[in-house]
Amino acid sequence: MIPAAFEYHRPRDIGGALAILTEHGEDARVLAGGHSLIPMMKLRMAEVPHLIDLADIAALRGITVEGGRVTIGAMTTQHELIASAALHDAVPLLREAALQIADPQVRYMGTIGGNVANGDPGNDMPGVMQCLDATYTLECPEGTREVRARGFYEAAYMTGRDDAEILTRISLKATRGGYAYEKQKRKIGDYATAACAVLIEAENGRVSSAAVSMTNLSDVPVFSDAAANALLGTACDRDAVKAAVAAALAEIDPTEDNRGPVKFKMHVAGIIIARAIERAWSRA
Ligand SMILES: Cc1cc2nc3c(=O)[nH]c(=O)nc-3n(C[C@H](O)[C@H](O)[C@H](O)COP(=O)(O)OP(=O)(O)OC[C@H]3O[C@@H](n4cnc5c(N)ncnc54)[C@H](O)[C@@H]3O)c2cc1C
Repeated sequence: MIPAAFEYHRPRDIGGALAILTEHGEDARVLAGGHSLIPMMKLRMAEVPHLIDLADIAALRGITVEGGRVTIGAMTTQHELIASAALHDAVPLLREAALQIADPQVRYMGTIGGNVANGDPGNDMPGVMQCLDATYTLECPEGTREVRARGFYEAAYMTGRDDAEILTRISLKATRGGYAYEKQKRKIGDYATAACAVLIEAENGRVSSAAVSMTNLSDVPVFSDAAANALLGTACDRDAVKAAVAAALAEIDPTEDNRGPVKFKMHVAGIIIARAIERAWSRA
C-alpha cells in the first residue's frame, strides 16, 4: 500500500529536529530505520503529516565503552551493535539478542533507538534493556531527562516518552557473569512467540545476582524481580530453576493471536525461561 501524503524533513542536528517536532506537535514523528514506522504508514495504521528523518544527525550515532559504562547513540543500527567488538566484550547479551532480531536486511536499517522507543511488545530490545537496567536519555527543547527502561513501558505502543521528546542515547553498565537471550519464533525473521533475557553472577557456586525479563508475553516487556529472587543464593539447581520459572510465569499475561493460544504461549514461555536461566548459569 501507499502511505498518505507527508512532508519529509531532514534536520542536521538534534536542535533542528526538536524544533520541527515542537512546531508540528502530534502531526510530526521522527523516523529512524523506518522498519516499524514505514510499514505502519503504508498500512495506514499511522498517519504522519510531518516525518522527521534523524539519519543526518551524527550525534545520535556510535557506541562508547568507558570506565565500565556503555553509551549507545539512538541511531546506532542493530548491525553496528553486532559488529562492535568493544560492545561484545562489555555487554555480550546485546549482541546475542541483536542477532535474533529479524534478518540481516532489517538489522542494517533498524536502530536501537527505534526498537526501544517504538513500544511494540514484540520488539526484543526493551526486555533486554530492562534486564540490563539501562537508562534512556530523552531530550526536548526544555532540557534532558533520564528514565530507566524498567519504568518506561506503560502499555502497547505507550511509553514514558512525551511527544515532544527524542530519545538520544541509551546507557548501561558493562556486565560480568553469565548471560543468555532465548527466543522462540515461528520462522527466521519473525517476532518472538516467547523470549527471555537473563543475567546471572555467581560467587562460590551460588547465584549472587540475577535479572530476568521477558518479551512478547504481555502488552509490555516484563522484568521479574520474583524470578530473580527465586534464584538468589541457590546453586541454580533444578528446583531453583523451577521456582524461578513459576515466579516469572505468574507475572505475564499473553494474549491469543496468530502465534498461538494462551496455553501454548505459557508452555513455550516456561521452556524458554528455563533454557535462558540454565544457559546464563552455565556461563556465570
Ligand atoms: C520483517 C521484519 C521483521 C522484524 N522482526 C523483528 C524482531 O524479530 N524483533 C524486533 O525487535 N523487531 C523486529 N522488527 C522491527 C525492527 O527491529 C524495527 O527496526 C524496529 O522495531 C524499529 O526501529 P527503527 O529504527 O526501524 O524505527 P522506526 O520504524 O523508524 O520508528 C519506530 C517508532 O519509534 C519512534 N522512534 C524511532 N527513533 C526514535 C527516537 N530516537 N526517539 C523517539 N522516537 C523514536 C518512531 O517515531 C516510530 O514511532 C522487524 C521488522 C520487519 C520489517
